Amino acid sequence: MEFSQNIRVVLVETTHPGNIGAAARAMKTMGLRRLYLVQPKAYPHADASARAAGADDVLAQATVCGSLHEALRGALLVIGTSARPRALEWTRLDPRECAARIIAESAAGEVALVFGRERTGLTNAELDRCHFVAAIPCNPAYRSLNLASAVQVIGYELMMAVREPAAAVSERMAEPLASADEVELFYRHLEQTLIALRFLDPDNPRHLMRRLRRLFSRARMTRNEVNILRGILTAAQADRPR
Ligand code: SAH
Repeated sequence: MEFSQNIRVVLVETTHPGNIGAAARAMKTMGLRRLYLVQPKAYPHADASARAAGADDVLAQATVCGSLHEALRGALLVIGTSARPRALEWTRLDPRECAARIIAESAAGEVALVFGRERTGLTNAELDRCHFVAAIPCNPAYRSLNLASAVQVIGYELMMAVREPAAAVSERMAEPLASADEVELFYRHLEQTLIALRFLDPDNPRHLMRRLRRLFSRARMTRNEVNILRGILTAAQADRPR
């Protein structure tokens, strides 16, 4: 099996078509082929084709999606990328850790690697959809790489990880992991239940859901475990005094 078969690169609302082409080129040099474009501003476009150079096959096969949700359908591991250090941290990985995880988990299922907009990156709500956030270490006074450069760096680490798979992330689940969309339904169920139990105040939610997402993301839940948790939520709601 080709290592990149289960790996999709998702570009969210890219403004400049040239960057889409350059990202396709960066991907192809690193053996990645599956490009997903979420609401690109201009695509197809001559600038994209020009910058793709010999990677126009990756470009031609790109999947255009109407939403991030659609682009993540079926993914078992979702890793976002961000240049910004944030107040409430997501679990962060450096590109090497990120690549080791992707190579380990892509053997068993679909993995999505998500890149943000040129000007504003990914929103917090979009990062909430990710199990981990990968940050490329760089000059703290100027952290923001060009989109295609970021794809290149992570792609390079994937290539290196394939050549020498890290033993550290070789823990493999015997049961199937829950997919991104199944986990999303769980979070919705959890939130509704916490509101019903008056643990979560919808008018003042603070960071509760984000913290819970971070906790469950670290656990890499299986489909079975998600079903058990949802069963508990249903039981908790049924038992609630009216
Ligand atoms: N001002 C934006 C920069 C966006 S750069 C921000 O704060 O996020 C466009 C995209 O390239 C980012 O969304 C991210 O996917 C990727 N990127 C750029 N620099 C990066 C870095 N140092 N680490 C990880 N991803 C980076």
